[in-house]
Amino acid sequence: MEFNKVLDNVTIYEAGKPIELVVREYGIDPKDIIKLASNENPYGTSPKVTAKIKEIAQNMFVYPDDSMYELKEALSNKFNVESSNVIIGSGSDQILEFCVHAKCDKDSKILMSKTTFAMYEIYGKQTGSTIIKTVDDEHNLEQFSAEYKKHGADIIFLCLPNNPLGECLDKEDVYEFLKTVDSNTLVVVDGAYQEYASFKDEKKKIDAKDLISTFPNCIYLGTFSKAYALGGMRVGYGIAQEDIIKTLYKLRAPFNITTLTLAAAIEALKDEDFVNTCIAKNFDEMTRYEDYAKSKGFDYIPSYTNFITIKFGNKFSSKEVAQELLQRGIIVRDLTGYGVNAIRITIGSNEQNTKVFKILDEVLEKLK
Ligand SMILES: *Cc1c(COP(=O)(O)O)cnc(C)c1O
Repeated sequence: MEFNKVLDNVTIYEAGKPIELVVREYGIDPKDIIKLASNENPYGTSPKVTAKIKEIAQNMFVYPDDSMYELKEALSNKFNVESSNVIIGSGSDQILEFCVHAKCDKDSKILMSKTTFAMYEIYGKQTGSTIIKTVDDEHNLEQFSAEYKKHGADIIFLCLPNNPLGECLDKEDVYEFLKTVDSNTLVVVDGAYQEYASFKDEKKKIDAKDLISTFPNCIYLGTFSKAYALGGMRVGYGIAQEDIIKTLYKLRAPFNITTLTLAAAIEALKDEDFVNTCIAKNFDEMTRYEDYAKSKGFDYIPSYTNFITIKFGNKFSSKEVAQELLQRGIIVRDLTGYGVNAIRITIGSNEQNTKVFKILDEVLEKLK
């Protein structure tokens, strides 16, 4: 059968491996499996949110509130914007998709960093757009400027901080760059890990309201999947000027967010203490990974997120390391597919990390 030709260029997104797969393929007991491949919050969902979900579960026979009034109110209060500046998606992924489909067709150009969130390219190619990447793996604004001057762009993606590498540009440098961008170029600031970055270093903090008032061609994206520990609920949001939000709404299916999800997200926003405690533990635990990498002579990328990228240089193959870990019940992300000989490990709980170091020692000894 013939399909839309642009899809010939689209590769299928490969998600982090689920626990169920490791149980099936390696016969490991689920309770012995440590999943550190999708940057989920290892401390689980806030008990207050779980209680709310159970309560709401009685009401599944009615459609959700399609206006999403309460969640939009909560988000507009948090970010000090109007409800009309907010759109909710089934994960911030869905907002990314809306942005690309709202702005791009086969004649469009999309500019992004070489090694960044894989979905930018996938959504871009779905529209037949040309993808332009900078040369360095990490975000480099001089290269963004040079490529932008040369080709222009309909959309620019900035992942702040960047997944899968963990680095983060300073807000001031981002603003200097944005000043040079045409008002008809949509700049997507993906803040999936902003809660972590702004906790670690104030200089990295992007304030959504300030961003969209200073640069009306920008949209800020946030998610409940990472720091807010609701990956399984699929909910994220975009914050932008009303004209952008209204256009994105044209692409939205009705009831794109479930009743359970809406209630969970509203409840999660009320429990910021939980989120802040998780973030503080994340950075305490991250120092153990930094020390581990140093002790083995591996480079790592200083991270502003809830994961760390450890490079093996010419010492080991990241693919082999990841595979050996998997067979022992530890799921990490191999970055070979991104052209980088490194693994990305989500920072787990104290107990999980202790086990990771022990098993990593075994694996490295075997592969040496
Ligand atoms: C996780 C992630 C997202 C979106 O996740 P959703 O679960 O779809 O909200 C977006 N961007 C980056 C960089 C991510 O890592």
